[in-house]
Amino acid sequence: MSAPLRLRRDADALVANWRALARLSGLATCGAAIKADGYGLGARWVATTLMAAGCREFFVATWAEAAALADLGLPALSVLHGVRAEDMALARSGIATPVLNTTAQAARWRDSGGGACHVMLDTGMNRLGLGEGDLAAGALDGLAVDVVMSHLACADEDSAMNGVQLRRFGELAPRVPAQRRSLANSAAIALGPDYAFDLTRPGLALYGGVPRGELAGMIRQVAFPQAQVLQRRSVPAGQTVGYNATWTAPADTDVAIVNYGYADGYFRGFSNRGHALFDGAELPVIGRVSMDLIAIDVTGHDVAEGDWLDLDFALPLAAAQSGMSQYELLTGLSGRFEQA
Ligand SMILES: *Cc1c(COP(=O)(O)O)cnc(C)c1O
Repeated sequence: MSAPLRLRRDADALVANWRALARLSGLATCGAAIKADGYGLGARWVATTLMAAGCREFFVATWAEAAALADLGLPALSVLHGVRAEDMALARSGIATPVLNTTAQAARWRDSGGGACHVMLDTGMNRLGLGEGDLAAGALDGLAVDVVMSHLACADEDSAMNGVQLRRFGELAPRVPAQRRSLANSAAIALGPDYAFDLTRPGLALYGGVPRGELAGMIRQVAFPQAQVLQRRSVPAGQTVGYNATWTAPADTDVAIVNYGYADGYFRGFSNRGHALFDGAELPVIGRVSMDLIAIDVTGHDVAEGDWLDLDFALPLAAAQSGMSQYELLTGLSGRFEQA
């Protein structure tokens, strides 16, 4: 079967991004967050590509994600959301290491036999993780902790909260008997060596996202959506294109209708704002993005039914155009793509 849209994935760019982040991580080991199916690009492809490049530490969110990768034999795989009661059979099978986030998770792990685990501390984000009171109450007693970690709420901004969380991590981490420490996601790697500790956990920037200006020019685009032209038509001056007639032809216009829409992750915010790329030219998206279709102004360009167009999906620009975050754009890439 052949799909009318495909996702070209640049393995060289993925590896180059990981190497750049590893370099910025200094002496810390650089891992890879591959949750949410490798941020929409395919966790198996990301993991095998980065493993071949030397990456040794991988992070997913759930045990279902870990199970889907179990046959790859990744050197180290961690499950960020820890162990619910429902996870214990898979978790004890040894396919990955849990990141314990709560007192109940820690007790569950200890009572089922313990063994290697990681621990998440909450240092102010108030998302997942143990707090000072939990540590004082002995939540981790008797556990063999490899990595103690925390997560920054505002690493993609110049916020005082970054320093506050760094100091809080410095206070709390020594109270966990752990082998290693880890704090930095992609954005925090760019905050400098104080944030790197022993292990960094980038996700977004591996996939071409640029969460902070320091990373611009260093991070390459990895995901390139391409879609096929289903029809080329001439729209006379004064007529409109698409739902709700939001675009009116100022002059006679040639329009290509392309098999790509918001159900494929090309969200409505790209309406009248996005671009396709053809022979080095930027061709504007005109009218509303439909569920499975968009219209492109191809006036003066030799674009025919059956041709393939690249959509401009450079993440910082695409986020600005669409009003979506770079994370949402990546994870929105749908299962309808043929992956290449
Ligand atoms: C998703 C996640 C990361 C990766 O974050 P990016 O901003 O994508 O680099 C790192 N650590 C934790 C705990 C996460 O949940």
